[in-house]
Amino acid sequence: MRTTFLAAALLAAVACSPKMTVSSPDGRIAVRFALDASGIPSYAVDVDGAALVEPSVMGLLSDEVNLDRGFSLVSSRTKSVRETWHQPWGENKEVEDSHRELTLHLENEAGVGLDVVFRVFDDGVGFRYRYAVPGADTIRIIGERTRFAFASDATSWSIPGDFNSYEHLYRKMPLSELRDTNTPLTLKFSDGLYAAVHEAALVDFPEMVLRHDIGLTFQSSLAPLRQQRRRRGAPLTEQLDVKAVVPGTFETPWRTVQIGRKAVDLVNSSLILNLNEPCALADVSWIRPMKYIGVWWSLHLGLESWGGEGHGATTENAMRYIDFAAANNIQGVLFEGWNDAWRGSDALPDFDFTRPAPDYDVEKVAAYARGKGIYLITHNETGGNYRRFEEQLERALDWDASLGIHAMKTGYAGGGLSGGAPRHSQTGVRHFQKVVEEAAGRQIMVDGHEVVKATGLRRTWPNFMTRECVRGMEYNGWGPGNPPSHTVTLPYTRLLGGPVDYTPGVFDILYTCTEGRPQLRTWGRPATECREHTTLAKQMANWVILYSPMQMACDLLENYEGHPAFQFFRDFDADCDASEALQGEVGEWIAVVRRAGDRFFLGAATDESARTVEQPLTFLRPGVRYTATIYGDAPETDLETNPAACEITSYTLTSDDTLTLRLAAGGGAAVSFIPE
Ligand code: CA
Repeated sequence: MRTTFLAAALLAAVACSPKMTVSSPDGRIAVRFALDASGIPSYAVDVDGAALVEPSVMGLLSDEVNLDRGFSLVSSRTKSVRETWHQPWGENKEVEDSHRELTLHLENEAGVGLDVVFRVFDDGVGFRYRYAVPGADTIRIIGERTRFAFASDATSWSIPGDFNSYEHLYRKMPLSELRDTNTPLTLKFSDGLYAAVHEAALVDFPEMVLRHDIGLTFQSSLAPLRQQRRRRGAPLTEQLDVKAVVPGTFETPWRTVQIGRKAVDLVNSSLILNLNEPCALADVSWIRPMKYIGVWWSLHLGLESWGGEGHGATTENAMRYIDFAAANNIQGVLFEGWNDAWRGSDALPDFDFTRPAPDYDVEKVAAYARGKGIYLITHNETGGNYRRFEEQLERALDWDASLGIHAMKTGYAGGGLSGGAPRHSQTGVRHFQKVVEEAAGRQIMVDGHEVVKATGLRRTWPNFMTRECVRGMEYNGWGPGNPPSHTVTLPYTRLLGGPVDYTPGVFDILYTCTEGRPQLRTWGRPATECREHTTLAKQMANWVILYSPMQMACDLLENYEGHPAFQFFRDFDADCDASEALQGEVGEWIAVVRRAGDRFFLGAATDESARTVEQPLTFLRPGVRYTATIYGDAPETDLETNPAACEITSYTLTSDDTLTLRLAAGGGAAVSFIPE
């Protein structure tokens, strides 16, 4: 159990000092700030009077100037904010920001100014550091002191603290056994409280992962500027230890702890967005959520290729996709492998972002797409050679815009960035930001693959629509696949940061594991070892659950043509107005509803356990009759032998009704509610 905090004793101690505590608007969450005898700052978090985070040290480390100790408190100020702001797209277009802010202005013996800024919301806490180092143009940051000393053990869900990839399966384990983790790190405490540690507004700084310190204490660990190749016993060189180079006056991303009484409270929290800066773009009218299809899954199945024999992105194929999109209420098409083949070496790949493949007539395809009102999504795969991309960036984006291409998927496949920087280093963060800003200048929307994790920057740069940063669908194409619990873990973990381009929607579920299936190439595994671990209905539910303003139906067109269940995707709207995670448990199941105009779309999904979900329809508009079409698991649906069996039923329902959904093991349900 969490230990009770002796509020009275602390209040007495600070009665004559500047304000050192700040509470959430509802008074349930409190943050306490303190300075120890060495002038090292610390914070603690209480929920309902009990400690969630015990006193934990704060601050950054530099080898050039003392950033971490000898501080004294000069002044403090508080502020209350209660406002509603709007975004051009999102789970919720209207967002309420209600918080209390406490800023502590500190100075140390080296003359370094440090503002520690806390914001406390009803759904959690954020804090950041704002440093001013007199006379310094730049400072090398060699580490971060920030600790998270949890007051009690918890069940944790996490991926490893890998600075190059998020494409890992989630691990469920006691917090006391966790040694390293990326964020969001999601926790469930024995008293039923949920929390998630993450960061917000990651700009010009390396990403934070957490490493075990002692007991239940974790320490921030920043991605280094260069890959670390430490030899045992060798002294750490200065170069290896540098995490960031920052100006003399700078601020860090927010360190965040989202807090909820139910698992779905974390999903419904807007804390990460609220800690980001308002929109930086004057005109956002060109930014549009979309559904999309494309030449992609066929590449992972080995049916078509990115170039050479079996090339998928041909002019003829592109026209076919554009026609299908136009006929099925789909707004975008993606053609991976549209540009001339991968050159250079694996270590230093070389792409040309304005040279189409010989059998892809980009001008013809772009004009055809424009004529049908379809967005062409270009794919700029860099192989991690970000410098080559930056050299061509302005010219390539100008060229895209001149063709009417206003959406771009990026890729950084490989082990890291050219020049030896980890993908999630300050170098990577700067590069991805540069791409987004240059794209915004040309009205181009971005879908980033193998980029740094989502930290809410979409509020400031709403053209940064979505990103991968997940072990996505592709792993089901050429590997043993993601387990049923994976996509019911993601809403409570990965998606707390923001939208995910997971690319759901495989209808031919067993294709990957069909022996003797035709393939141009294999990925070194027998086909029978590769497969999906969901039912068809769960694939559809994931269009609703795994939020992305660019939502893909990833399967081959022939698997959608004539399939009655595809009507759900035709009706579905990627441009929702409001959302609510209704019920669920981390890694077990979830039910989510999204409203788009006067329509509602519900997705429910389960792990490897069959489950019956009773869902009151109180989210519907009272007094309105809706045609509810349920695309669910059929009685004969079986995850192993008959996963594509799907039952479609329709009823007239109102907000007074309760829907009973029977989810098969690894199953789900997608429901559309259309006013009659
Ligand atoms: Ca990937």
